[in-house]
Amino acid sequence: MKPLTRENWLEAHTYLQPVAKLCAEVERKAADIEIGSREIPSWEDYSGDFQEGIPLLQSSCARIDLEAIGRAAVSLVHKLASESSSKRIAAEASALDAGLRREPDAPRRIVAWLLGDDSFHTPSPGLLRYLGWTVAARYLLPVRTAFDRWRDEDRWMRNYCPTCGSAPAMAQLVGMDQGRKRLLACGRCGTRWLFKRTECPFCANDPQRLAVLSVEGEAGLRIDYCESCKGYLKTYAGEGNESLLLSDWSSLHLDLLAHDRGLKRVAASLYELEPLLAPLEAPRR
Ligand SMILES: [Zn+2]
Ligand SMILES: [Zn+2]
Repeated sequence: MKPLTRENWLEAHTYLQPVAKLCAEVERKAADIEIGSREIPSWEDYSGDFQEGIPLLQSSCARIDLEAIGRAAVSLVHKLASESSSKRIAAEASALDAGLRREPDAPRRIVAWLLGDDSFHTPSPGLLRYLGWTVAARYLLPVRTAFDRWRDEDRWMRNYCPTCGSAPAMAQLVGMDQGRKRLLACGRCGTRWLFKRTECPFCANDPQRLAVLSVEGEAGLRIDYCESCKGYLKTYAGEGNESLLLSDWSSLHLDLLAHDRGLKRVAASLYELEPLLAPLEAPRR
């Protein structure tokens, strides 16, 4: 068997190539943006909010400079508008860029919107959500790493991301047999956190009603879903290939499969962009 690399994965799933290409391009452009220094929050100041279940980015005690994320998002939109290999993405980014220029308070409003405030309106919510969370995940990486070290997983165990508050997009099963644990994975900021292994994170229903949809030849990826609420989580039953298999974009075809079975994705996807989804839809017609 070939080792699992990004290249092999894309060879076996050619319809994912447009999304992979765009992700690589956007990551390169995001890496060129100077976001400024990020301070690690005082965990002592935040710990009260943590115990009450307030995610890090929504806590005023954490004092993270969120506006820096908004400014970087505005820069990334601008970069993509001026040069993108995808004409359709460049055109959409140009329109978005022009709109953001008319909005004086754009950085602050974008971040508030990314975190759930719906008073901000944009003609391209899909693209802005994707670009905004791409820069946010980069910016927050050192904070997230420190948060992972500080956080007592047994005291969180909630069905939303401890960093940004999103519902989980994916899950991972780690360890073996009795010691097997389930981590939930955020599709926005990339945090992974511990959750009960057999309970539905969407409706906290009867644990016996969790079912598995196995998929052949997908390197340990499967779909776990709840028979009560029909919410599903793409699940990676394995370890070692997290950066590829938990990236969410690398398994967009499983979202289509789940959708065909009448299952519901609860967490928003960052990849709901028409030019990216069209190649996935094509083989099904
Ligand atoms: Zn998150
Ligand atoms: Zn459920």
